[in-house]
Amino acid sequence: MDDFMQDAPPSWWDDIPGDAPAAAPPPVRALPPGDLRAQALHVLNTVFGYPAFRGEQAEIVQQVAAGGDALVLMPTGGGKSLCYQIPAILRQGVGVVVSPLIALMQDQVDALAELGVRAAFLNSTQTMEQTRDVVGKVRRGQLDLLYVAPERLMTPRCLELLESTRIALFAIDEAHCVSQWGHDFRPEYIQLSVLHERFPQVPRIALTATADAQTRAEIALRLQLQEARQFVSSFDRPNIRYQIVEKDNGKKQLLDFIQSEHSGEAGIVYCLSRKKVEETAEFLKQHGIAALPYHAGMPHAQRAAHQARFLREDGLVMTATIAFGMGIDKPDVRFVAHLDLPKNIEGYYQETGRAGRDGMPAHAWMAYGLQDVVLQRRMIEESEADENFKRVLRMKLDAMLGLCETANCRRMRLLEYFGQPSQPCGNCDTCLLPPQLFDATVQVQKLLSAVYRCGQRFGTGHIIEVLRGISSEKVLQWQHDQLKTFGCGREHSEDEWRSIVRQSIALGLLTVDHEAYNALKLTEAARPALMGERKIDLRRYQKAAKRGSQRQNKPFVETDLSSGEQAIFEKLRWWRVETAREHNVPAYVIFVDATLREIAKAQPASLEELGHISGVGQRKLESYGQQILDVLRALKD
Ligand code: ADP
Ligand code: ZN
Repeated sequence: MDDFMQDAPPSWWDDIPGDAPAAAPPPVRALPPGDLRAQALHVLNTVFGYPAFRGEQAEIVQQVAAGGDALVLMPTGGGKSLCYQIPAILRQGVGVVVSPLIALMQDQVDALAELGVRAAFLNSTQTMEQTRDVVGKVRRGQLDLLYVAPERLMTPRCLELLESTRIALFAIDEAHCVSQWGHDFRPEYIQLSVLHERFPQVPRIALTATADAQTRAEIALRLQLQEARQFVSSFDRPNIRYQIVEKDNGKKQLLDFIQSEHSGEAGIVYCLSRKKVEETAEFLKQHGIAALPYHAGMPHAQRAAHQARFLREDGLVMTATIAFGMGIDKPDVRFVAHLDLPKNIEGYYQETGRAGRDGMPAHAWMAYGLQDVVLQRRMIEESEADENFKRVLRMKLDAMLGLCETANCRRMRLLEYFGQPSQPCGNCDTCLLPPQLFDATVQVQKLLSAVYRCGQRFGTGHIIEVLRGISSEKVLQWQHDQLKTFGCGREHSEDEWRSIVRQSIALGLLTVDHEAYNALKLTEAARPALMGERKIDLRRYQKAAKRGSQRQNKPFVETDLSSGEQAIFEKLRWWRVETAREHNVPAYVIFVDATLREIAKAQPASLEELGHISGVGQRKLESYGQQILDVLRALKD
């Protein structure tokens, strides 16, 4: 919520004339005659420089450009922006984009300007001068796209301003903010149904990455989009590799992961507490990794500065609480790591979805252990929520644990949770290195029996000492060395027992009593297991280092660049850093990695050849084409 600001319009708006003479740039394109489909493709090719639409983009663009309404569900990185940007360019008038993410508007507008699209925004970060300029352009019909925060849009003045001009469409971004039960609820979004009443002729498109059917229905109802055509994309993100490791020293494991697989690349590390965010950033910095902290307890200015650096510079790691996130548009985030277990799969999927928006290989990595389970369970029990709500929270946490403990494909598990059946993916840790299962019926029996014989009053550490026959002071004090179960589990290490305890909790055989010093207790479900009536298979514990070794066999990124091409790519990146700095925009606004890689491979010798590369549109060819050719030529000499 931190990035949102209240956004009231200044009172002198009304005075801005609509007919001031101005040297506004003309629209970039002259559309070819032909049907909408051909025109849309033409804009995609020439303005955005992309050869083809992805997924359902073409259908959506067609629907809205022809004046229809649409409700679009697409995962993060699916390419939602083009779905309203292209119709806005094709239709007469200005496309009004409603977005709660004020902090990102400047970058969005800059990115469009680089493409030669006439865009602007209205929000409270602007000076009076800037606002006057934008309002004037709206009145004179000199914009293709206008970004506005919902609270600003809903003011009588802003609505009057829009009535005074021609509107191409309304795009309602992050439309799930209308859902009262969702985590990003924004009361102003409810009022957006007014748009339909005041501008009945103007097509509307609502977009979100939130998957569930309930939210979708709520969006349709509250925004009066029941008649809109719905476009629901697959939620799969095939370029993201999922990996969940058992935690033994989370920070150290994280460091190994970054150093061995993502050195010098941009990533996000999520932690539960502010303190841990600070500590982790410090730890990474000490080990030579450029890391910045981000959490809601920091001064606003510092937080904003860190966000801006993360977006603008190459290869920074942001360690953050979940306060950092919605609308992080940076396309080249190469990994998202979780050092703590998320509360539910919805949160996990949204956070990991910030990796690899550019479609290139990316990594979702998590370290998770017994402490995480205990902590999350306790947070639910101690929360103020009523019993019904707590039950929902527990169910969601259990689904999350199921994902962590599954011996099957993680992606199948995730997609199944969102109601989408699929096949084993070949790009997650369990597919790449299937975990070994073992028949743990006897081990679980021993564990449950030890818990029972110790009177269900002791925590994990103590129970494991009893199982392993360790005569610690506490064990002797309670005479637990006299128990029948004392030493019955010597064949397993402490780590192995911890893994068995954790999986037994995840299976619901044991619970942790937070009101009694985290004592382990048996549940109803434990009875058949205790009696040996239920066969139980568990994942075999593997030391973290061992699991990591999979990378030796299979490189994470199949680098498709030869060493010569790699050198060219690096040079192009340098050129991009400097150019981005000169223009004061994020590097990816100039060109994304995928485009630079393609240039490095193709090594075009003329502007014409360069123009064929995906991501090089007309305007960028004019602005940067010669510079790129110069960089390439300098390397040849
Ligand atoms: P979303 O808003 O759904 O998360 P974006 O609109 O930011 O996704 O798009 C993600 C990335 O994919 C951007 O870098 C965008 O330029 C790129 N992209 C979108 N559509 C296409 C396409 N048809 N061809 C190539 N790249 C595309
Ligand atoms: Zn898989």
